[in-house]
Amino acid sequence: MRINNKRIHKINEQPIRSGSIVYWMSRDQRVDDNWALLYAEELALNRDLFVVFNLVPTFSQATLRQYSFMLEGLKEVAEVLKQNNIPFHIYTGDPAENIPEFIEEVNCGALVTDFDPLKIKRKWQNEVKRKIDIAFYEVDTHNIVPCRESSQKQEYAAYTIRPKINNLLPEFLEEFPEIEKQKKVHIPEIDWESLYEQLEVDYTVKPIDWLTPGSTAAYKNLQEFIETKIEKYPEQSNDPNQYAISNMSPYLHFGQISAQRIALEIEKADVSKEAREAYLEQLIIRKELTDNYCFYNKDYDSPAGFPDWAKKTIKEHRNDEREHVYTLKEFENAETHDRLWNAAQKEMLKTGKMHNYMRMYWAKKILEWTNSAEEAFDIALYLNDKYELDGRDPNGYGGVAWSVGGVHDRAWKERDIFGKIRYMSYSGCERKFDVDEYVARFL
Ligand SMILES: Cc1cc2nc3c(=O)[nH]c(=O)nc-3n(C[C@H](O)[C@H](O)[C@H](O)COP(=O)(O)OP(=O)(O)OC[C@H]3O[C@@H](n4cnc5c(N)ncnc54)[C@H](O)[C@@H]3O)c2cc1C
Repeated sequence: MRINNKRIHKINEQPIRSGSIVYWMSRDQRVDDNWALLYAEELALNRDLFVVFNLVPTFSQATLRQYSFMLEGLKEVAEVLKQNNIPFHIYTGDPAENIPEFIEEVNCGALVTDFDPLKIKRKWQNEVKRKIDIAFYEVDTHNIVPCRESSQKQEYAAYTIRPKINNLLPEFLEEFPEIEKQKKVHIPEIDWESLYEQLEVDYTVKPIDWLTPGSTAAYKNLQEFIETKIEKYPEQSNDPNQYAISNMSPYLHFGQISAQRIALEIEKADVSKEAREAYLEQLIIRKELTDNYCFYNKDYDSPAGFPDWAKKTIKEHRNDEREHVYTLKEFENAETHDRLWNAAQKEMLKTGKMHNYMRMYWAKKILEWTNSAEEAFDIALYLNDKYELDGRDPNGYGGVAWSVGGVHDRAWKERDIFGKIRYMSYSGCERKFDVDEYVARFL
């Protein structure tokens, strides 16, 4: 077996039957460095192998911006699968209908999919499970250390998951085998135009042009980051004027590159220990912590998921007077009194990617300028998911819950509105970076 079986989770009790093998690609939209596809290929020895993707025409707050990034990336998936003689099918509509139908059509004996901690994906998976009578496997090819392996419970914070992940990294941070070319079969054509036409999304949020979608572009972006920016990462990644960050999050979100590939390339490169450790802390520990949060906390998408100390302090400060209160529309249109906040909002509107440091400030100010933490949570998540290229991700739920609800954080000195939730201020930003320069760029 080329794949560590701890990455594989059997979803049902059904046996592998005769017939083809299908990989239902969902979160991890790439051909190379994909353990789920590799496992499907392994099962398909002397059988036909198919890859299927189900496109839901509307998904959370996703707009044309995110859908186009995804579809353009899927075009590359189709091309690379074709080079390997693997038929790729895309269906639109409800996966609970389409996947079982496809299984029938290709006389499938076992189904493989990729791991995703989000509720909607788990719901689809359960619906499909109920309708099929063949073996159904889930492979965690998103996390380096599989989410079910790193911990069996919700972790309190980075410091509690870090030793668990670090202990298991030597076992899981390994090179990927290459996918093998299959025997020649008919490869269906995909009508991309018709897929775009079937979307039911907000077309006013336009695609961006500063970041090219797809696995090849993701790899190129990574190499550029390693060559030109990673050494600045420890010192400058918190300065939104420096852009000493990797911009890998949209690629990671759509699975166009694997975090494991990024970590392997950084391990191989001539990178200082300090830069490597600072970057891998974010890429591995912080990122895998949010998968842990979403997988083990069913309330990850609401303030009910906040820790008890945070719920208590928020409740105690519920009636504190707010100097400024804004509506969703005012936030959305960047119409607050704070030019730094407005600039951050504009950065997100225009580029689809707000700098990490500004995301924290941005979400915390929404808490300060709304009447309740519930409202703040909803507004922050709504805007995040509508405009960020990397939105609707466990990192988004984790990031908003950290900012507004103290998730993965600790109690701080008590103050108005925030209670013991960590506070961030305009003057604090002025001490950290040139606010004028940032504001001038986006306002
Ligand atoms: C309010 C708020 C909302 C957020 N929403 C999202 C979101 O929707 N999608 C998303 O992917 N990230 C989100 N984040 C986390 C973080 O801001 C982004 O991952 C980061 O800005 C992505 O840019 P980058 O790839 O250039 O980051 P880099 O600094 O280059 O980091 C590399 C990778 O490490 C991981 N990473 C970095 N920072 C964090 C973090 N704080 N938590 C978890 N993983 C991290 C990401 O996978 C990132 O791509 C949010 C954070 C906050 C505070």
